[in-house]
Amino acid sequence: MRSLYDHLRNPDHTGERRCWPCTSVNAVLLLLACAGVARRRSRALAAALGVGGAAAITLRGYLVPYTPRFAPGLASRLPTNLFHADGGDGRETPDSSGSLGDDDDPGEAVLAALVDAGAVVADGERVSLDDDFRESWRAEIRDLRERDDDGLAGALRAAAPEGRVVEVVTPSANAPLEPDGDRWFVVSDGSDDPANEKWLTRPVAVAETAAVRALADDTDLPATRRAQAAGPLRTLIERCPVCDGPVVETTAVECCGGPGGTRPDAPDEVLACDDCGARLYTFQ
Ligand SMILES: [Zn+2]
Repeated sequence: MRSLYDHLRNPDHTGERRCWPCTSVNAVLLLLACAGVARRRSRALAAALGVGGAAAITLRGYLVPYTPRFAPGLASRLPTNLFHADGGDGRETPDSSGSLGDDDDPGEAVLAALVDAGAVVADGERVSLDDDFRESWRAEIRDLRERDDDGLAGALRAAAPEGRVVEVVTPSANAPLEPDGDRWFVVSDGSDDPANEKWLTRPVAVAETAAVRALADDTDLPATRRAQAAGPLRTLIERCPVCDGPVVETTAVECCGGPGGTRPDAPDEVLACDDCGARLYTFQ
């Protein structure tokens, strides 16, 4: 039976979807309002306002109407971006996962190669995974997701183009408001130039490494092509690499654009797991 708490709660803006910029902006506005009421009216009234306001923020995610529209802009103008996760050594983490593949490689050519290799089936405008390839990819995913971070990083290095370096980066302790403390897998050319770094979340690292390994087993695509194909293949993933839940196209991300996102223009068309919320692809 649903409790009163569940009944009142708005799941769009609370729990895992709670948006920390919105919550914080509201808490500050509520405190200011309470202080004003205490000074001009009465302390009892201020206390009542405080309790009611705090309950609203807890249950509904925010108190002030239209918070999701203005809080991101407000939060992004703060001197230090409190809400942005900070990778180890103060490196800033991206808003969405990168890919093993080359970003400026034309997706069309990669898709054509995947169709030729039999990993993907094209039916007019519709493309989908070949049944056998889907099974191989899933088997690799089941194997890789059991590995610890170092084990996964090793497999990712083997799947990445020749000569790439893979680091596991933990968000630093000075990002206390970042609700999702997951590690990032950073693939680079070892040059220390951030422009040559690809930051992958763990679910994406599992999905792409598994895709490259399945392509190596099932097709004769060369290694560079296999790595390039990992990103485009992710648009066709049907089951979550973390929990096997169904992957759905959604716009219902956290109101400020997703984990750590505070930019009002953050992309919101994503493929995500319907069960655990893992984000698997962000459409640009
Ligand atoms: Zn999931």
